Amino acid sequence: MIIHSKLPNVGTTIFTLMSQLAAQHNAINLGQGFPDYAMSGELVELVVAAMRNGNNQYPHTNGLPLLRQRLAEKVNKLYNTQVNGETDITITVGGTYAMYNALTTILQPGDEVVVFEPAFDSYLPNIEVNGGIPVLITLPYPTFSIPWDEVRAKITPKTRAIIINSPQNPSGAVLQPEDITQLESLLEEHENIVLVSDEVYEHLIFDGKPHLSILRYPALAARSFVCFSFGKTYHCTGWKMGYCIAPAAMMAEFRRVHQFNAFCCPAPVQVALAEYLLNENAYLELSSFMQQKRDYFRQMMLQTPFKPIPSYGSYFECYSYADISNQPDKEFAMRLVKEKGVAVIPMSSFYKSGLDNKLLRFCFAKKEETLAAAAKRLASGT
Ligand code: GLN
Repeated sequence: MIIHSKLPNVGTTIFTLMSQLAAQHNAINLGQGFPDYAMSGELVELVVAAMRNGNNQYPHTNGLPLLRQRLAEKVNKLYNTQVNGETDITITVGGTYAMYNALTTILQPGDEVVVFEPAFDSYLPNIEVNGGIPVLITLPYPTFSIPWDEVRAKITPKTRAIIINSPQNPSGAVLQPEDITQLESLLEEHENIVLVSDEVYEHLIFDGKPHLSILRYPALAARSFVCFSFGKTYHCTGWKMGYCIAPAAMMAEFRRVHQFNAFCCPAPVQVALAEYLLNENAYLELSSFMQQKRDYFRQMMLQTPFKPIPSYGSYFECYSYADISNQPDKEFAMRLVKEKGVAVIPMSSFYKSGLDNKLLRFCFAKKEETLAAAAKRLASGT
């Protein structure tokens, strides 16, 4: 039987590949983004208790009402907004699913979507599987700041959406106040454009900067799907739990798709998260916790010839190996995993063209001993 592929140019994701290679070569895995330390025992206990208490059947398709209410309280306080948990929030199977469901909700064949590269690997397939056309804009290296003049030049009557991602995976760049001003004035002129905002790293933002969530800006929030992740916030990426926030009318369309996609998300986890959300410190302390790891890793990497490209958010930092080798980044990353026992992500994976700036992405959401051991391996004879 021949299946005509909807994604003929897509292979296995670089994250899966590198994690497989890491396991195969017994390497320290700083590739795929996930913590190697324990998540909150209290939150685990809450899930266990929720299961024991019988929360094991389908919860509401849109998400447990109490969880949505608590999330609304959280974002309304943090981002000074007026989100309604009943109508504006849907619990999703992680942030990636939230993005996919949002794009599937809005895209018609032939619609154009502005995407900034380097881009998280799911965006382009999400657009293409829906018959959309990605319009790519390269963020200039090494600042990775948005070239707004180019964005203006690439808007056409077919532009349906712009995807933004702050803090950005993989660069660690974050939106600045002037980006918001640019976005507001641009979208004022283009009534038809929806914003799809990937904010899964909202709490992983460093150097005392506030996270400029799209939810803070009423004119932008009125036309946005904003996607979040519990996995990043509570160190449980394997739970695949997230949520999407949008104005009620937009969210109603999102839910039409979602109810025939995942339908709903795990019940006991939602009961537990609703309770755990009352603990504000669990997310408010995250910036300093992760910043410490970034700084520790940077310190450890001083013994190596790799040069950091500063990260201002997320749990990734990119390092240049231009002083070490001229090899293409994928080959160089292969060499590191095999010869040094350290797995990383080659940055060219985040560009459709395979643009290679001799950069590697490292995940520093790891125990200090893991980070120290990886740096030590990289220091020896590179
Ligand atoms: N978000 C994680 C990363 O960027 C991994 C996601 C995945 O494996 N699909 O590394």
